[in-house]
Formats: sequence, C-alpha cells, structure tokens
Amino acid sequence: MSDERRLRDRLRSSGLRLTPQRELILRAVEHLGHATPDEVLAHVRGQVASVNASTVYRTLEVLESLGLVRHVHLSDRAPTYHSAREPEHIHAVCRGCGAVRSLDPEAAASLVAGLAEDGFTVDVGHLSVFGWCSACLAE
Ligand SMILES: [Zn+2]
Ligand SMILES: [Zn+2]
Repeated sequence: MSDERRLRDRLRSSGLRLTPQRELILRAVEHLGHATPDEVLAHVRGQVASVNASTVYRTLEVLESLGLVRHVHLSDRAPTYHSAREPEHIHAVCRGCGAVRSLDPEAAASLVAGLAEDGFTVDVGHLSVFGWCSACLAE
C-alpha cells in the first residue's frame, strides 16, 4: 500500500477526509522541514487564496491528532511543526536567524544514558539546543 493510500485510509477511519487543503498544509510542512503556522501560511497562500491563519492553525492540530505532524516549542511564540515521518531528532535552533537543524539523537546519548541511570527517561524529540549558526556568527 502506498503512503498516500495509507494516509487516506487513516483519515477516513477517523471520519476525516484528506481535503485538498489539509493535504496542501501537510505537504507544506514536509517541504519546509520545520515550520511555524505563519511560515506554513506564507508557503500555501500563493496556492490557495481562501486559506487564512486560523485555518492553518486548526488544520495543523487536526494533522497532529492524526499523528501526521508533531510540534515542539522552540520559542515562546508559536509552536514549530515537522512531519511525523521524520525520524526522531534533536533540534538545534539558531538564535540569530531562527534556522532549525535536525540532529541525530545519538548526539545526546551520554546525557540520555546518564539520566536513565537515575530512572529518568528523556523525551528526545523534545530536546532543543540553542545557539548560533555559522552564518550568523560570521556577521
Ligand atoms: Zn523537528
Ligand atoms: Zn543563524
């Protein structure tokens, strides 16, 4: 079964349809990699005139409840979404330009292992590291 087909089946069994608009917003998140609702809106606005901020927010919530996207809080503002198809990763966020890079969870292996010894389980997908990218540092 293709991904596309599986997705449609999943939506149908939840009583939801993969409307062109939902599909468009899901594709936008997949294309952007990491995106806030505003960035998704800016991306899809050129394609669908009727779409507005509240539609994007609502649709992202629907897609998340279906397990198609996930969100993390990388700032005190809007959440950042990424596709649930991406393997689990740590976020490296530039304080200068806001660019988000995905890091292999292996990068935090010793931290995770150390906390596990104390009986603490790390939610790796929610780990974020803040700093400056090389381009911002060069300015
Ligand atoms: Zn991510
Ligand atoms: Zn930067």
